Amino acid sequence: MNLTVRILIGMLAGLALGLGAQWIGLDPQGWFASVFIGDFLDAGGQLFVNSLKIMVVPLVFVSLLCGSASLGATGKVGRLGGKTIGLYMVTTAIAVSLAVTVALIVQPGTGVEGLVATVAYEAKPSPSIKDTLIDILPTNPVAAMAEGKMLQVITFALLLGITISRSGKPGARVLSFFEDVNEVMLKLITMLIKLAPYGVFCLMFKLFAELGWAEIKKLMAYFLTVAAVLVMQLTLVYPLILTLIGRLNVFTFFAKIREPMMVAFSSSSSAATLPVTLRTVEFRLGVNNATASFVIPLGATINMDGTAIMQGVATVFIAQFYGIDLTLVDLGTVVLTATLASIGTAAVPGVGLIMLTMVLEQVGLPVEGIALILGVDRLLDMMRTATNVAGDAVIAVTVAKTENGLDQVVFDDPDAGLVFEKENVVDLNRDPTA
Ligand code: ASP
Repeated sequence: MNLTVRILIGMLAGLALGLGAQWIGLDPQGWFASVFIGDFLDAGGQLFVNSLKIMVVPLVFVSLLCGSASLGATGKVGRLGGKTIGLYMVTTAIAVSLAVTVALIVQPGTGVEGLVATVAYEAKPSPSIKDTLIDILPTNPVAAMAEGKMLQVITFALLLGITISRSGKPGARVLSFFEDVNEVMLKLITMLIKLAPYGVFCLMFKLFAELGWAEIKKLMAYFLTVAAVLVMQLTLVYPLILTLIGRLNVFTFFAKIREPMMVAFSSSSSAATLPVTLRTVEFRLGVNNATASFVIPLGATINMDGTAIMQGVATVFIAQFYGIDLTLVDLGTVVLTATLASIGTAAVPGVGLIMLTMVLEQVGLPVEGIALILGVDRLLDMMRTATNVAGDAVIAVTVAKTENGLDQVVFDDPDAGLVFEKENVVDLNRDPTA
C-alpha cells in the first residue's frame, strides 16, 4: 500500500475514533481521556511533529543555500526570486480579496449579537510593519537559527548562496559539501515520513476527541464562510494559475499534493510540513532541485493564502459584530496588511490569529474581537494550513514550468517518487579508490 493511502487511513481512523470518543462522552478525569488521549496519543503526535521539525532549520538553510547558489550560477536568481515572491504576493492578495468580498456578501457577523466571548483574549502588541521589515536581516545568523527565526535564516542562506556562486573554486567546494548535506537531509525525510500514518493518527484522534463543537455551532456562519473561501482558493484560484500560467494538469497536481496537505492538516504547521512538501514537489511533481530548494522554503515562510483568508473573513466578521462600517480604503488596507502579515506569520499553529491583531489595528477595530473566534480557530487552523501548503506547491510547479525547471515526465507519471528507494546504505568497507 502506498504511503499516501496509509496516511489517509491513519487520518480517517484517527478522525473517526476521536469523534467516536467525543460522542460517547468521556469523563475528562477518567483513564481513557487523561492517560490514553491526553498522554499517550498526545506524546505520539508530538513526537511525529518534532521528528519533522528537527529538520526544518537545517533543511531551509541548506536547501535555500544550494538552490540560490545553483540559480546564481545561471544568473537566474533575481528573475526567479522576483517571479516567485511576486506570485506569492499576488495569490495572497487574491485570497484575502476573495475572503473580504464573500464575507461582505454573507455577513457572518450580523445576527450573532448574543455571542459573548467565552475566553478573555489578551492582545499581545503585534510587531509593526517597520519592525517586521527590519527583522528580515539577522545580526547574528547563528542566533537566528537557534531561535528558529525563519525569515532571517532565509536571508542569510540566500546571501551566502549567491556569494558562493560568485566565488569560483572555493565556492564550488563549499557548494559541493552542502549539496551532499542536502541529499542526506532528503534521505532523512524519506526515513521519517514513514512514521506519518501513525503520527497523523495520534494527532487526529486527540484533536477530534477534544474539539469544541458547541463553539463551532455558535459561530457556524463565520466557520463556513472561512471554509468556503478556502475551498474556492483551492478549486478556482489555484486551478486557474496551474492551467493558465503553468499549463499543467490540475488533477495530477492535486492527486500528488495530498500527502503534504494531510500532514499540514493534522499538524497545523507549514514549517513542520516543509520537509514533506519539498520531497513531494521534487520527487513526485518533478520540480528540479534548484527551483524546489528555493521556492518551497521561501513559500512555507512567507506565503500563507489560507491564513490571509481567515484574516479577511475575521476582520469583516469583527467589524459587523461591533457594528462598525468598513470603508473602501479600510478594505484596501485589510488586503494590504493581511498580505504583509502573511510574510511575518510564523508557520506554526495559531500564529495567524495573533497576526490578525496587526490587521485589526490598521483599520482601528477592537482587538478583543479575536476572543469571539478563538474557540473555532483550531479546526480552521488545520484547514488553512493545508491551503497554505498547497499554495506553495502551486507556485513551485508554475514557476518551474515557466522557467524550464520542471520534468514533465515525472509530473505526468502517477507513480513517480512513490517507491521508496532501497536504502542506499553506505558500505563502510568499500574501497575508497574504486
Ligand atoms: N498554522 C499556520 C501555518 O503553519 C499559520 C496560521 O495561520 O496560524 O501555516
